[in-house]
Amino acid sequence: MTSSRAYEENVREIINRPGEMRERERGFDAPESFGEALATVPAGERVDLEVRLESVHEGILVSAHVDTTMHAECGRCLEPFTAPFEVDFQELFAYTPSEADEYGVHGDHVNLEPPLRDAVVLALPFQPVCRPDCPGLDPETGDLRDAEAAAESVAVDPRWAALAGFLAEDEDVDRVSDPESK
Ligand SMILES: [Zn+2]
Repeated sequence: MTSSRAYEENVREIINRPGEMRERERGFDAPESFGEALATVPAGERVDLEVRLESVHEGILVSAHVDTTMHAECGRCLEPFTAPFEVDFQELFAYTPSEADEYGVHGDHVNLEPPLRDAVVLALPFQPVCRPDCPGLDPETGDLRDAEAAAESVAVDPRWAALAGFLAEDEDVDRVSDPESK
């Protein structure tokens, strides 16, 4: 996987100056997609980044807020949808990484891609839903359930159900006399 300069943050001004801090905001188009399941942030999607860079004794402490848009397929109705997606992460980039999984300061910059990618991929929903009350698919027909019908079947007081059925019949004779034959 190639890294991109889009993720590089220049820290030359604060290297070896503990106590110094910089805050920056910027945006870029994701050079590569995030995630491989039902929810992803596709390549080309706008990513807005708020970064705080703090010089500490061991290196540069990065705190970041990521604001972008996820593209997902609803786990209930299978319809594609997009939704705002935000995540935070914090990571120390050490001057002398002591362990293999520790991030380092490279020259005059840090590469935010690995921790940013981990944070986004971990936070993307495993079972996205287009909206909290998505009625999903009808378990019998496999068709998309009508949201209003689904809500009515719950909302109608059983004591009135018979009357409601009678009224519907009265108002909608054509549909009743011509049941959808499939
Ligand atoms: Zn849905």
